[in-house]
Amino acid sequence: MSEENIINRMAVICQQIHRYNHQYYVLDEPSVPDAEYDRLMRELTTLETEYPQLKLLDSPSQKVGGVALKSFSQVVHQLPMLSLDNVFSAQEWQAFVKRLIDRLNKSQAKATVDFAICAEPKLDGLAVSLRYENGVFVQAATRGDGTVGENITENVRTIKSIPLRLQGTSFPDVLEVRGEVFMPKASFDALNQQAIKKGEKGFANPRNAAAGSLRQLDSKITAKRNLAFYAYGLGFVGVSEDGNGVGENWLATSHYQRLCQIKALGLPMCPEVKLLENATQVEDFYQHILQQRAALSYEIDGTVFKVDDIALQQQLGFVARAPRWATAYKFPAQEELTILEAVDFQVGRTGAITPVARLKPIFVGGVTVSNATLHNQDEIDRLGIQINDTVIIRRAGDVIPQIVSVVVERRPENAEVISFPKVCPVCESAVMKAEGEAVLRCTGGLYCQAQRKEAIKHFASRKALDVDGLGDKLVEQLVDEGLIKTPADLFKLTSLDVSTMARMGQKSADNLIKGLESAKSTTLAKFVYALGIREVGETTAANLAQYFRTFAAIKAANDEQLQQVPDVGVIVAKNIVNFFAQAHNLEVVEELEAIMSWPDIEVKSDDELPLKDQTFVLTGTLSKMGRNEAKAALQALGAKVSGSVSAKTHYLVAGEKAGSKLVKAQDLGVSVLTEDEMIALLNS
Ligand code: NAD
Repeated sequence: MSEENIINRMAVICQQIHRYNHQYYVLDEPSVPDAEYDRLMRELTTLETEYPQLKLLDSPSQKVGGVALKSFSQVVHQLPMLSLDNVFSAQEWQAFVKRLIDRLNKSQAKATVDFAICAEPKLDGLAVSLRYENGVFVQAATRGDGTVGENITENVRTIKSIPLRLQGTSFPDVLEVRGEVFMPKASFDALNQQAIKKGEKGFANPRNAAAGSLRQLDSKITAKRNLAFYAYGLGFVGVSEDGNGVGENWLATSHYQRLCQIKALGLPMCPEVKLLENATQVEDFYQHILQQRAALSYEIDGTVFKVDDIALQQQLGFVARAPRWATAYKFPAQEELTILEAVDFQVGRTGAITPVARLKPIFVGGVTVSNATLHNQDEIDRLGIQINDTVIIRRAGDVIPQIVSVVVERRPENAEVISFPKVCPVCESAVMKAEGEAVLRCTGGLYCQAQRKEAIKHFASRKALDVDGLGDKLVEQLVDEGLIKTPADLFKLTSLDVSTMARMGQKSADNLIKGLESAKSTTLAKFVYALGIREVGETTAANLAQYFRTFAAIKAANDEQLQQVPDVGVIVAKNIVNFFAQAHNLEVVEELEAIMSWPDIEVKSDDELPLKDQTFVLTGTLSKMGRNEAKAALQALGAKVSGSVSAKTHYLVAGEKAGSKLVKAQDLGVSVLTEDEMIALLNS
């Protein structure tokens, strides 16, 4: 590369890093993953090492990232708050140790160096400095640019684990404790779920959530966010001028012991911190924490190793933005950049149509990822994602890969809006989205290849046609071997077909054929239920049968007529109409009608209904039947189901945790039934 090219490249990288720093440290809203940022920073430092004469004066490699926002009052740190160097591999760690030893040897601190190391997880939050004067918490500040930070005292007061007064009586007059404020994973998930519910964007990761929550002008907002703190070091320590209290002599000469001292004063310390005898134990600690990572309740992005002996630390000193006596040993990235190359639509076994992102393969979180689910249209809208976009993909632990966000500034000209299919991509039946549901579904339940196994399993299940000898495994085998495609095909099976299948004997084959033969006689209600129409459960099927009396009438009913049936609302009616509107479903249904039979439904006049004129109120949790099912069952027998208890109520059905309605019913002398008593009444 020519000198001019190098100068240009350095300028481009610096500008890019300045922009990313602003997004990350000031706005708490990074647009690229850390891995991308770290790559750029490494490229810059490599160039700067090779061509030191070309290093820009304002190079970001020489500064602690971040600035203190003007909207906060400012705190000048009595001792600077620095960043950390980092290494990414065992080799880089070895090189770091070699540099330490060389430097210590040069300064003739020790001829051979075998020093203890304090090993700590690298917490993914933001650094704060807490100041205690005479044991009382007086100030908290962010790191800012390392020299000047933001005054966040009031916000930090709301963090429950930070003591407002130190424990005990033995502490320096002025004590600055440094550590990380972070948001536990569970709180981060809850906060983001809430944001998504409200249609807001949510935070990209727990670090940004912690920073965004702490750097609030209104401390009431911070108080609502569940933030936590672990101490990992000291800042300024003040010696008493009049000789009272304790001063620097109080301080241990080991970093680890100092952390223990801070802990004894009531400040939380990360339980994973460990004192290692020497540098050879570092790799084991790193691997151990890497294994633990997913199970920890807080996010970490690596480990930190610090020379434990404070005297050695002092000899090693600092470079511009970090101490020489410590380094972060970072974990492989869990977030990476890649391209969304296409979107395919998969039909699940229950007909849900899911958009699946086809990604340019990318190594992230320890594996190569080339697919990720996009869930549904709502998720696509929330991400604002288009085909050919650059996206941030996250794979943490064993959790399935997720698309976190889009790098909108990298959207190419050939970006394409993602459009959903108008018909099922597997069977070409119509697709529908129920009101209030985000998922698009195929309506060809009885026919669609993707839904075949589930449809047949349901058809043969105990509460439907209860086909003896036909379990889920056998259904799968029959479908896999191509012997059946629809429930109607079951009745075309011969004993020979079945007995020649793997793991099937003549006896089981005969049993199955016998089972199928007797399943041909059923009831209208069971037949309707067996079709597996979405949200048509046993009770709804029974109500439909009772109301329409013939299958032909159910098939022909329109929305309005269907909604006359107890328990059938707008959505269920639509599901039924859509089901019978599919030609493919109808073909199967007609085949089944020709094979199966059921007795006519006895017509009961209203007067004959056993619970006619009886008013019921349901309250509390009905754990066996559920409220809706109980309501429908009572209505089918002629009962009225009302929402409130009055003198006209005949029965109150009181489930678990029944409250004021039960009290009122008892006051009014209304008969109270338990759930079991109601079930007994229904059965009688
Ligand atoms: P850093 O986060 O790599 O390391 C220093 C910080 O680590 C400290 O200030 C402290 O807050 C924290 N830390 C956690 N555990 C610690 C422990 N046990 N002991 C001491 N410190 C501990 O450095 P940085 O300067 O804060 O940030 C640089 C990093 O931030 C980059 O490497 C990158 O990953 C990320 N970043 C990303 C973007 C982006 O756009 N994605 C932009 C800027 C920075």
